[in-house]
This record gives sequence, structure tokens and C-alpha cells, in this order.
Amino acid sequence: MIYKKKEFLVDNIKTSVLAKKYATPLYCYSFKKLKQNILNFKKNFKSIKPMICFSVKSNPNKTLLSEIGKLGLGADVVSIGELMRSLKSGIKPNKIVFSGVGKTSNEIEYAVRKKILLINAESKSEILEIERIAKKNNRKVNIGIRLNPNTDAKTLSKISTGKKENKFGVNEKVFLDLVNYSKNSQNLKLKCISVHIGSQILDIDPYKKMLKVLEKIIEKSRYQFQFVDLGGGMGINYNNSKKRLSLKKYSILIKKFLKKQKCQIIFEPGRSIIGNSGILISKVIYIKESSKKDFVILDAAMNDFMRPALYNATHRIIPVKMSIKKSKKRYEFVGPICESTDKFAIFKNFQKLKEKDLVIILDVGAYGMSLSSNYNLRPKVTELLIKNSKIRIIGKRQKLKDLI
Ligand SMILES: *Cc1c(COP(=O)(O)O)cnc(C)c1O
Repeated sequence: MIYKKKEFLVDNIKTSVLAKKYATPLYCYSFKKLKQNILNFKKNFKSIKPMICFSVKSNPNKTLLSEIGKLGLGADVVSIGELMRSLKSGIKPNKIVFSGVGKTSNEIEYAVRKKILLINAESKSEILEIERIAKKNNRKVNIGIRLNPNTDAKTLSKISTGKKENKFGVNEKVFLDLVNYSKNSQNLKLKCISVHIGSQILDIDPYKKMLKVLEKIIEKSRYQFQFVDLGGGMGINYNNSKKRLSLKKYSILIKKFLKKQKCQIIFEPGRSIIGNSGILISKVIYIKESSKKDFVILDAAMNDFMRPALYNATHRIIPVKMSIKKSKKRYEFVGPICESTDKFAIFKNFQKLKEKDLVIILDVGAYGMSLSSNYNLRPKVTELLIKNSKIRIIGKRQKLKDLI
């Protein structure tokens, strides 16, 4: 994905051509980038041979899931819908883990029948429910227990999950009680300790602390876990800043950790696999002048891409065609929805735009389409995949008539 002759291309295809042919707003993914991310992830963690379960909630597109499955990844799911879709996309049950604080009996029953690798339980009540269902089905079910390590992930507060005030996992005392309970159960097979401290983590320290907590608690439990599931959360570079998470360094820390614990590592990455492989192409509807800045009103809105409104996340926005003129403007990019939070970003020095110009919001592959909605009765948009210079529609734009 680069500019060539002043126009932004996705794997050699002009984004203006895509916009014209498929209309805007338009999500577009690069297979090349996706594959590169997966190979890079595998390469960095090569020495610890982890099992990599793609976090389906970051992007549940059927075609993407099946491509990700073909590239060797399993799935981390958080609902029966995601579980069914992962299976349908060809991901084998023995590569699927099920996370989440509120799995219903129905969801647990389905997971038990499909014999997935692990149900990662997050409370005593859930463990009792899994046990009840396992017993009813005359089965011994593989479970993990999610620990809340009380570790600050140093990320946006709204995507932090590993502090004691967060709803996720159980604290150390409950964890140890649940280990004792589970190992004596006829219908549970305790296999895993799991954690996931948050998302978009760029600092290695939280992971370091998390591993220390894990080490201590595994020792205390005196239980041999077959798996240690470290979750996901690896951050990506959204803003051209220098701060980056080194997967290599993380891998070295884990390698050390594994010297004491003989177990298999599981990862549940979402964003770091799919985040930078997707863009959102959008057209300027109006430019509205105001005293301190001009509003660029796009045809994409918070219903299409919610991260800025939901988490105050900032994403780069770039023009499809670079201007040769020097004039710069102060622009606030907003959508047409009747909410003040329906804004994407402010830039002080953006090239001068005209109405009908095209722009691109970058790095929207994760938590982009998956968080989209029909708010304001806006149809969900088209998704394209560019693979080997071929364009494929992998998500159809909803028809207005189906909404009304
Ligand atoms: C969301 C989530 C992930 C994925 O997080 P990323 O930041 O996208 O890597 C992994 N595990 C669990 C339990 C999650 O809730």
C-alpha cells in the first residue's frame, strides 16, 4: 500500500478506480499485508512455537477468516456466532479457544458438543455451569481459567482489561480455589491458565509484569498446566510515532518464562494480524467553513468506523490523490451522523480538498467493520479483498430496501 505517481494504491490497484467501481464508503483489505503480518508474527515467535488463535472479534469476515485459517491460525472466539463462523470457515475445533465473561448455557453446550480446544472460564459460576453441561453430556471438558493479573496495560483506559477493577478473569485467591476445584472434578479437565491484559499495547513492561505474576501464581498452584494462553493485545503503529512493540523482545521474555514452566504458549492476536491490512475509502460530501477550522464532511461515519467515537482512537487520514499545490488547511474530518462524537480526526496541515475528493482512513482492518452498525439506518458497506492483483467482493453493501 503506497503512493505511486501521487495516487494511493493497494497492491498496485488504484484506490480511485475501486471507489468509482464499488462506490464509497468502502473497506478494502490487502491479502499481501495480511499474509506478511502472519509470517512476521510467526517468525518473531519462532523459538517458542506458539499456537496462534486469531481473535475473531477484531474482524469476523468469512473470507478473511478462511484465509487466516489456511495460513495456519486457529481462532479465539467470544460468542456462539463467532464459534459457528470459525468452524464454517474451516478452522478445526482443536484450534479454537472460547473466551468471555458471559457465556450462556446454550453457548457452552455448543462448544462442548463441538469439542473445541479450550473453554476459558472467567468465574466460579461459569465453571459450575460448564461442569453441569459436561456431566449432562457425559464428557470431560477441557477448560482454562482466566486470571486477572492486576497489571496495567498502559493503553487507552477503554481497552484495558487486566486491572482489578475490570470485569475480566478472577483474582489470585479465586484462581487458586478454582484450580483446586477443577482438578478434582470428574467432568472438567483443567489445561490452561489464560490472561489478556488489554489491547493496543506498545510497551513491553506490562507484558513483563504479567509474566512475573503468571510465574508466581503457577508456582503457588502447584499444577502442571498444558497451556499458558497469553491473550493478544500487541499494538500496531497507528500514528507514525516511533513507539513500537518489539515482538522479538516479547518472545525472548517468554522463552525465559518457559525455562521454568514446561507448557505450550497460546496467543490470541487480532489487531496485530489484521489492523494495518484494511483501509476505508471515503468521499468528501461537503466542506463547511468555520472560524477556526473547516469541517470536511465525509460519506463515512461512526457507524462505519467507530473506534474514534468509541475509544477516542486516532487514525491517519490521507488523500487518495496527492496534490501538487502547497496550500494547507486545518481540517476536522467528520461523518454525517447526528452525534458530536461522529468525528474522525483533526489535522492542522492537510492538503486543500474539494467536495467529491476521496480520502482514506488507514489501519481500519481490526475493530472497523466488526464494530459497524446500522445507526441512523445507514446500510453496512462493501468490503473488498485484493489478492494477487485480483479484486474480490468479500462483503456486500446492504441494500436500503432490506433496511426499510
Ligand atoms: C479482544 C481480545 C483479544 C484480541 O486483542 P487484540 O488487541 O486485537 O490483539 C484477545 N483475547 C481476548 C480474550 C480478547 O478479548
